[in-house]
Amino acid sequence: MTLTVGSTIDSTEIRVRQDIPAVLGTRVPLVTGGETGYANLDHAASAPCLAAVRDAVDAFLPWYASAHRGAGFASQVSTRVYERAREVLRKFAGARDRDTVIFTRNTTDALNLLARALPRHTSVVLFDTEHHAALLPWRGPNVVRIPAPRTRLAAVAAVERALAGCPAGPRLVVLTGASNVTGETLPVAEIAAVARRHGARTALDAAQLAPHRPISLTGLDVDYVVLSGHKLYAPFGAGALIGRADWLRAATPYLAGGGATKAVTRHETGVGVTWHTGPERHEAGSPNIVGVHALAVACEQLGAHWDALEAHEHALLERLRAGLAAVPGLAELRLFDDESDRTGTVSFTLDGFEPGWLSAVLSAEYGIGVRDGAFCAHIATRRLAGQGAQAVRVSLGLGTTEEHIDRLVLALRQIVARGARWTYGRPAGRWAPVPDPRPLPPFLAG
Ligand code: PLP
Repeated sequence: MTLTVGSTIDSTEIRVRQDIPAVLGTRVPLVTGGETGYANLDHAASAPCLAAVRDAVDAFLPWYASAHRGAGFASQVSTRVYERAREVLRKFAGARDRDTVIFTRNTTDALNLLARALPRHTSVVLFDTEHHAALLPWRGPNVVRIPAPRTRLAAVAAVERALAGCPAGPRLVVLTGASNVTGETLPVAEIAAVARRHGARTALDAAQLAPHRPISLTGLDVDYVVLSGHKLYAPFGAGALIGRADWLRAATPYLAGGGATKAVTRHETGVGVTWHTGPERHEAGSPNIVGVHALAVACEQLGAHWDALEAHEHALLERLRAGLAAVPGLAELRLFDDESDRTGTVSFTLDGFEPGWLSAVLSAEYGIGVRDGAFCAHIATRRLAGQGAQAVRVSLGLGTTEEHIDRLVLALRQIVARGARWTYGRPAGRWAPVPDPRPLPPFLAG
């Protein structure tokens, strides 16, 4: 792929409505010449940074220092910032008083931490359509991966059956709040109630739900929530596991190292360690204070604007689905036959067009960013997309405008009618324009 460095592409802020927080946007070059405003329709992968998050990080950076251990004033400010974030996350997730908030790198990290903290012989029940982050961390003979049923009602019943067949002992149901493939929401409260009746705990993978809907440990009666900052408009490398403290307090520390220890002593045969019993137990090493601060600010911003966010997203999703329905040969993917609330995520296949090729054309000729492939949910995508086992995913968010959606729909219609205007190949295993004259931004020069 030939990429030239050097054009000036100004950053812009996108504010779609006065009552919706602005996000950072950009302009992107086109293979056909010139540039256009980037239509970021890939929020489900990683959302753009909120302008308020950028501002909060900028304001904090001069104060940045080590948290917890420094006597300097900036260290004390940093400690305050870090611990304030726990309280913000606690509120954002509707946590109970006894719940703990542990900062992680992302949802994957949080679920792996939880998996390591399970008491021995815990039975784990989940659908096989989960994202790999939720599908894979669980080990042992007592993991039940249920083929996802075609209705939400059947999904609740399937969990109930699986739990009834579990051996005695601790049990955990792991469940996504919203599918990262189809955007369909799962009946979380209903499944959590079934879990409770069978003596099981529920862990909610809120990576896709939390950026779109308020979540509440208390309201849904779930035991754990995990989420990622980069999907919540705070792309600074922090995530969280929030929930019941007992298993976590009893578990071997996730990482061994400084910060997780109260005291370390030398014995003749080795070292003796007294570990913390609070969240620090699983947060060894210097914490990501900037990331955690960014995450907390993003949560505050979303939490203050839910009504507007949901109204905006509903209107855009209707526009998107109506537009896609009119594209000849396009089939939308669905997990459930019955209707459910959906976040602004839609995956589709288009007869005669490879998803990877299609998304390369959308990017190169129209300045549109979408996702193609199997979305780290291979079982779900293979089941829904059929033969090709791949699809294109469009996901909306705070930076999405009506123009972005109209541009996408028009682009798809044009591609179906007359194909691409450029040539494409697979120079590095992925579809890409060949040649690719688009200049990289100046900061990548040299
Ligand atoms: N769970 C779901 C439903 C997701 O969509 C994702 C990411 O796409 C993850 C978990 C993993 O998130 P992360 O990559 O931030 O760890």
